[in-house]
Amino acid sequence: MKFNPAQNIQNLQYFGEFGGVNPSIEDSSTYTFLKAAKMEEVFEKEVEGCYLYSRHWNPTNRYLSQALAKMENTESAVVTSSGMAAITSTLLQLSSHGDEIVSSRVIYGGTYAFLKNIAPRFGIRTHFVDFTKIEEVERAITPFTRVLYCESVSNPLLEVVDLRKVAELSKRHGLKFVVDNTFTPMILSPANLGADVVIHSLTKFINGTSDTVAGVICGTNDFIHSLSDVTKGMIMLLGPVMDSHRAASILKNLHSLHLRMVQHSRNALFVAERLSAEGYDVRYPGLPSAPGHSVLKKLMNPGFGFGGMLLLNMGTRLRAYSVMEKMQQANIGYLAVSLGFYKTLFSAPGSSTSSEIPDDERESMGLTDGLVRISIGLDANIADTVEKMLTCIREVEEPTEAPSRPEPSLIANALLH
Ligand SMILES: *Cc1c(COP(=O)(O)O)cnc(C)c1O
Repeated sequence: MKFNPAQNIQNLQYFGEFGGVNPSIEDSSTYTFLKAAKMEEVFEKEVEGCYLYSRHWNPTNRYLSQALAKMENTESAVVTSSGMAAITSTLLQLSSHGDEIVSSRVIYGGTYAFLKNIAPRFGIRTHFVDFTKIEEVERAITPFTRVLYCESVSNPLLEVVDLRKVAELSKRHGLKFVVDNTFTPMILSPANLGADVVIHSLTKFINGTSDTVAGVICGTNDFIHSLSDVTKGMIMLLGPVMDSHRAASILKNLHSLHLRMVQHSRNALFVAERLSAEGYDVRYPGLPSAPGHSVLKKLMNPGFGFGGMLLLNMGTRLRAYSVMEKMQQANIGYLAVSLGFYKTLFSAPGSSTSSEIPDDERESMGLTDGLVRISIGLDANIADTVEKMLTCIREVEEPTEAPSRPEPSLIANALLH
């Protein structure tokens, strides 16, 4: 049977303590032992079914972790309190003083800032290169390299990395290949393509309700165990633990992820096709003209589309700001960072989520000030939405026409001032 991440989650059976159809929430920080010697054993090694302390492991977090491991087709997984916690714990676990990381230059601004400003304080150096050019990646590898790091579809430029090629390179040099798959859950399965560790910010599509910040690390049993080792594990010792109530609520949202991805993708393709047919400068990996289209087509799981993210280039920062404000006033969505919500969300990455990257580097990678990153929502009538969007864009393009705008709602007003 063909690999299907959604069906793998569907096939899991979890019951609550009294036969409930949802697993019970383990609302405890600590756990009792009948025998003192057993406690000693759990401190030394992981014992199946035994829990010690909820920073180490919690049964509810285990359920969510297992479901995400099923989705990514890895042996194991561990959930964390944020996507950044998942990224930083993984990179610190895999490298120590004197080691080097080769990272994609187009990555989430927080990850970039960590590698640039914090990792060097631990003696870890990073080379930033263009991961769509495999020769550049290979050239940056030295005898000190331990990790190759990239995003499957990059934030915010939507470049698509040929994960299979990078995985081959990584294996040839005996490195660990870590992939942030936040933009393409269900659509891409990096572990199937050779990645060693797959990370998500659950905050985005996977949870999908913009009500929490969370993350996950998916990998081998050995690697996930190493993270919760009581003397050397970054999860155990840095302590970015998820609360069990939150794990239970994310698990419930996870069960509709595949349906949401299909709708996000369907709507985003519709918007991208319509805007580009009107001659506007849009980038969406589902458009045959997009740079990463053929690579993504080759690597993706069928049936989930090309994702919910697209870029609209308005040319200048002021025009980008103006179109976002108009789109919010027209109730197309919200001027907000983040992604994967039922409402469309938009922000200008150059001056927000990627502002950690210095101006000259942003310019050299094509991350210009006029870009608007749009996370397309779950709209039931996307045709109407896109017409409203076109009106907003035209008002910015042709500012001489006096625009007739609807009165901003109270909430929009509050957001704008
Ligand atoms: C948001 C995001 C992160 C950070 O995740 P948090 O949950 O906000 O800590 C990391 N990588 C990507 C690609 C993201 O979009």
